[in-house]
Amino acid sequence: MGQITEKFTSKIIKKMKKNYTGSLESTPQGAVFRARTSDAVITAYNSGKVLFQGARPEKEAEKWRDHQATPEQAAREGANNKNGSLPKQHSTFYPPKTLFTGSHIGSDESGTGDYFGPITTCAVYIKKEQIADLKEMGIQDSKVISDQTIRKLSKDLVELNIPYSLMILHNEKYNKLQTQGWSQGKMKAMLHHSVIESLLAKLDSAPYEGILIDQFCNPPVFRNHLASEGKSLLEKTYFMTKAEDYSIAVAAGSVIARASFLREMDRLSEMIGFDLLKGASQRVDQRAAEIIRAKGEAVLGRIAKLHFANTKKAKSNL
Ligand code: MN
Repeated sequence: MGQITEKFTSKIIKKMKKNYTGSLESTPQGAVFRARTSDAVITAYNSGKVLFQGARPEKEAEKWRDHQATPEQAAREGANNKNGSLPKQHSTFYPPKTLFTGSHIGSDESGTGDYFGPITTCAVYIKKEQIADLKEMGIQDSKVISDQTIRKLSKDLVELNIPYSLMILHNEKYNKLQTQGWSQGKMKAMLHHSVIESLLAKLDSAPYEGILIDQFCNPPVFRNHLASEGKSLLEKTYFMTKAEDYSIAVAAGSVIARASFLREMDRLSEMIGFDLLKGASQRVDQRAAEIIRAKGEAVLGRIAKLHFANTKKAKSNL
């Protein structure tokens, strides 16, 4: 049994409630809703706090981290809500405004929501003088541009000799870590840490205002993940959600990471003889079932994130 508490905006809590429509239980006093899944009991409070309790609270909490409130949003909401005060420690992780217009490092990952394929993570160093040109080039959040454009922009970035470090967590290793008890959040934290460290080694003391990580969990949680592997947060590390919208370095990282993910999907598709689909939809379940029928179940461990619900659904499609 475990327990996780995290804070979300009222908008996200509304979204959660809708998502758990089929699993709602009677609402306790002071709460917005309570839901029960096979992994956890989820209770959302008016203060914005959400409690995940049960056998696998991490599984439910993880789903919502990408939607989490930035410290600024939470503070704004907190001002309208006397119960919702922001934990002080979080604000120290929020980047100074000067970061976005100065030389800095940004890091982002890709593939975490896709059943097939690896997680790729990329840290990029952008010099102050390059920011305007990169914006002009069209470098932006990879989620809003087509695959074709992502591939082209990634090539352009590499050709510009922009310093970066890229890491691919292949499915075999991912599944091994997962069965050893690593959450996806811990894998991501360690990946970000590794790419940033290796990028810093390449930079040879070039100046930077700070390191910005696209936030996927509360910064203290990130720090705890590192600590569990004997690592600590590097100096001047900051976190914010939707960082790619503010930082050209994070946007560049998101482009290179996504392009690498797409190349890996091409490679794995060719290896397996099936076109591997992105995402985690029903069509993905069906494709996984076709692959099991043709190649056997064991092969999934080399091309997919086995703990996703898609594995079970694919097997029930056989
Ligand atoms: Mn991201």
